[in-house]
Amino acid sequence: MRFGTKAIRAGQEPDPITGAVVPPIHTASTYVQAKVGELKAGWEYARSGNPTRGALERSIAALENAQYGLAFASGMAAETAVTSLVRSGEHILATKDIYGGTFRLLRHLREKYNVQSTYADFTDLNRLEEAFTPQTRLVWIESPSNPTLVVVDIAAIAEVAHRHGALLVVDNTFASPYLQNPLDLGADIVLHSTTKYIGGHSDLIGGAVVTNDPELYEKLYRYQNDFGGVPSPFDCWLTLRGIRTLHVRMETHCRNAMAVAQFLESHPKIEWVRYPGLPSHPQHELARRQMRHGFSGMVAVGVKGGAEVAQRFCEGTKIFNLAESLGGAESLIGYPPKMSHASMSAEERAWCGIPDNMVRLSVGLEDVNDLLEDLQQALEQC
Ligand SMILES: *Cc1c(COP(=O)(O)O)cnc(C)c1O
Repeated sequence: MRFGTKAIRAGQEPDPITGAVVPPIHTASTYVQAKVGELKAGWEYARSGNPTRGALERSIAALENAQYGLAFASGMAAETAVTSLVRSGEHILATKDIYGGTFRLLRHLREKYNVQSTYADFTDLNRLEEAFTPQTRLVWIESPSNPTLVVVDIAAIAEVAHRHGALLVVDNTFASPYLQNPLDLGADIVLHSTTKYIGGHSDLIGGAVVTNDPELYEKLYRYQNDFGGVPSPFDCWLTLRGIRTLHVRMETHCRNAMAVAQFLESHPKIEWVRYPGLPSHPQHELARRQMRHGFSGMVAVGVKGGAEVAQRFCEGTKIFNLAESLGGAESLIGYPPKMSHASMSAEERAWCGIPDNMVRLSVGLEDVNDLLEDLQQALEQC
């Protein structure tokens, strides 16, 4: 099956009992048993497994060309499950271009559980080797990254990670499975905040992990069941509802974001624009090779005049809502230094390439001319 068919059909077969074309929301916490220790249809207790969640897990696995999928209560719960593969004293090597929440999670694990972690610049593959230690178990990247929109070579990094005996984890939230399938490029684990493009409507919090490795799946499943960070049946159902239009939504996100990026690149009040689809992007050629259909809906810009002008720009839009998060139908605007990346020190932000004049846009599905007019009027006033 091709992507658009999988988005609508995989895991979402008609209900065998009623014929319902949409997977039902199974709310039961427990399932009656045929005999002691003998289950009727494989379901036992809803933390361990639930048919609505099972449908979502099959769907996301299919979209990422994976054998196994697991759904979690949030992207961070999914990330925590993946970090459980590392023991105290071992090491996670992460890209310096990373989601603010991942940065906080790794700091927490380092300070409290002695799980070591360091950051490196993954655009420089020659210097990457130096960042490994004999204890490195996981390599953790995003491409494109949040909020810097850096694109890294997933296949090349997989090769380096494997040579050092480490697993490659890719946070694929920004690209979505429609634009990129990291397992096909050699990654061992792919994770998503399904809160973003996969859910797509800013109405749920969720996460997912997929892999092709049965042993990794077994470990991650055990973690999910032991630690219990599972999503509710209703959230699984909402996520499945979002997935059915993922390919259609992504096409418009990509088209609108390209128009916004081009508009801002020619605007006199904008110092620089970062969008992987623009030839000015430092890894534009790599992005073209590695991604398909387009370059997603996230655009970062530097506003001339510094931090205060940038914040006034964020506060002056009328259609773009000033809010955290991304990937929904509605366009959002945010100021990473005081929002998503506020937990970093000014030095850490500078090292990660998050200057004080940075504004991040999640370009939604509205009419693109209204979006451009909104940005124009906000820039005129800031
Ligand atoms: C939002 C986000 C997360 C965390 O997901 P939650 O669903 O908010 O827990 C992780 N990675 C990236 C890239 C994100 O944008």
